[in-house]
Amino acid sequence: MDFFMQRAVELAIDNVKSGGQPFGAVLVKDNDIITEGVNELHKNYDVSGHAEMLAIRRAQEQLQTLNLSGYTMYASGEPCPMCLTAMYFAGIDHVYYCQSVEDAVQVGLGKSQFIYEELRKSKEERTVKMKQMILQEGKESPLELWQKKS
Ligand SMILES: [Zn+2]
Repeated sequence: MDFFMQRAVELAIDNVKSGGQPFGAVLVKDNDIITEGVNELHKNYDVSGHAEMLAIRRAQEQLQTLNLSGYTMYASGEPCPMCLTAMYFAGIDHVYYCQSVEDAVQVGLGKSQFIYEELRKSKEERTVKMKQMILQEGKESPLELWQKKS
């Protein structure tokens, strides 16, 4: 197995041994590990504490940038929609993963697969109910304000 993937899997195994979920991630640039992360849902009350999210957050903080294009994510498990979205926002365009979303379902970790299915549905069919509320006439629009400023 690839060295970086081996490290991501090792992080995931260590995390399980210390009471966490089986996910580890390594963010790589030019053949160097820049940051790492493991799923920390067992440690903090923060649903965004996924391995990939934490690796991205740490890299952006460390490098003082939002732009991680040219970086490669190695994740022990296929990224969930939240982590994948963060990769889109950060410009990470290469992701290697080991165990798939379907593999995770087999051990009772089915949330990612459920959310991927939800995202394929129309807004009206989703479990999370969303309703647009139109800006009151004459009220300042945040989007228009932003457009004027930029
Ligand atoms: Zn995730």
